[in-house]
Amino acid sequence: MLRDSTIGGLISGISRVLFGKKMIIAKSQKDLEKMRAVGELIADVRETLRAMVAPGVTTLELNAAAEKMMRDAGSIPTFIGYKPHGMVPFPFAICSSVNEQVVHGFSNDVPLKEGDIVSLDMACTLEGFVGDTAMTVPVGNVSDELKQLIRVTEECLERGIEQCRPGGHVGDIGWAVQEHAEKFGYGIVRDYTGHGIGRRMHEAPQIPNYGRRGTRERIRTGYCFAIEPMLNLGTAETRTLEDKWTVVTLDNKPSAHAEHTVAVTQEGPEILTLTKEQKKALRSEQGESAAA
Ligand code: MG
Repeated sequence: MLRDSTIGGLISGISRVLFGKKMIIAKSQKDLEKMRAVGELIADVRETLRAMVAPGVTTLELNAAAEKMMRDAGSIPTFIGYKPHGMVPFPFAICSSVNEQVVHGFSNDVPLKEGDIVSLDMACTLEGFVGDTAMTVPVGNVSDELKQLIRVTEECLERGIEQCRPGGHVGDIGWAVQEHAEKFGYGIVRDYTGHGIGRRMHEAPQIPNYGRRGTRERIRTGYCFAIEPMLNLGTAETRTLEDKWTVVTLDNKPSAHAEHTVAVTQEGPEILTLTKEQKKALRSEQGESAAA
């Protein structure tokens, strides 16, 4: 975990001691500027990796490219050495989870093959703030079944993000994800959740991908969330491999993952993990729908 010696870091550290892990840290305008910067950087890494995925490419190559991009931009790969209580440190800059692997997969030298899907999860820390994002990418041509799984996972992410508005509740996010995923009969992973994010990758609150409207914590301006639905073609149940990290589906059926870091603003959700081009495209899309 990044050592944080700034005043803001001290205050959030003291808040955690006084109020425990439940304290949700609202970000200042200055904090949000830094969250935007790191969000855009990690989005660039994500899109670079998306373009690299092809049959024959290895996840070690993807990992090396991601780590180089993060370091060249002056950021720290947040996942390397990440060590939750009782765990062994995570050894890679990205999580590479192929097919039945849900999350936290290790990169390796096995070439990706046509028809696989690969989930890539990544985070970096820039000027003390973390950006976290994930996507599932088809390797070459994949079955319609897998295309739909990926598409619906992304739609669930969009619907979850749409709920990130002041006055709403964290349960609204899970409700929106669950409601859409269940239309397709997918297993919603419950063992892992989204989370608050800021100076630390994992801050309060936990953001499950299921739930009831109007339940859990109240959403307020300045909160930053990592929303990350994980959907399985089969059972929602998972198990962890002997490497102590890699999570796979219990029935070995494929799984997809999509994640954005989002800030709650007065105007609604602001997706921080978009590239400059994606932000521009979104703005013109919103402009068109406002004009219509
Ligand atoms: Mg995350």
